[in-house]
Amino acid sequence: MNTPSPQTQTSIEFAADLIRQSKHAVVLTGAGVSTPSGIPDFRSSGTGLWSRDEPLEVASLSTFRTKPDQFFDWFRPLARQMFEARPNTAHTALARLEEQGYVKSIITQNIDTLHQRSGSRTVIEMHGTMQTLTCTQCYHQVQAEAYIAKFVETGEKPRCPKCVQVLKPDVILFGEQLPQAAWYTAQRQARSCDLMIVAGSSLEVLPVAGLPMQALDRGAHLIIINNTPTYLNVRADVVILEDVAMTLPAITERVLYG
Ligand SMILES: [Zn+2]
Repeated sequence: MNTPSPQTQTSIEFAADLIRQSKHAVVLTGAGVSTPSGIPDFRSSGTGLWSRDEPLEVASLSTFRTKPDQFFDWFRPLARQMFEARPNTAHTALARLEEQGYVKSIITQNIDTLHQRSGSRTVIEMHGTMQTLTCTQCYHQVQAEAYIAKFVETGEKPRCPKCVQVLKPDVILFGEQLPQAAWYTAQRQARSCDLMIVAGSSLEVLPVAGLPMQALDRGAHLIIINNTPTYLNVRADVVILEDVAMTLPAITERVLYG
């Protein structure tokens, strides 16, 4: 682990103070929280699941429906990476803050379930989840783990145990709406929080990138931890241009032990 620079150390202390003083802190996480676990940032690597400026035909609902083999060929290495990934120190730090009552919820752009696997309980998944699969024919939903394990191993498409139709991962593809319930919950959290912590997100994918603005408009404080600048850095109380896997554990230590 790198030792933080004196300037970063000051920012870490300031961030910890804001977290301790907050009554309703909400975290917004993006790809940067999962890259230390070996999951690539789909946007910046140019293979984007949800990239707007570089739409990827294969990650679309229409490809899933019309050419499922092509979809699943593309999806297999991605599924393997997520299946094999383990939570890192950033996930663990956020789970501890929630456990100790400092964080009320985590809004995430990630689909890899690493927050839940590290112990976080209130996770709002804006781009869907790898946790479950749903039948495209009868809408029967199954827990993904056993199906993904078999699919990763054999390459055979996962099929519904009831009607044998292909199962779709419950991730949001191009051509799909954001999950409405998650979106409403996230907006409610953004509007009622007194502190928002953005971690590992460059705030480039709308509408999720607009949530911190909703928090700011209602007077919330804002902490941004991301290794590249975001459009809201100028309005944040604290900006830490560093790796979340180094910074979040340091902040958490400071919050919990002073
Ligand atoms: Zn079915």
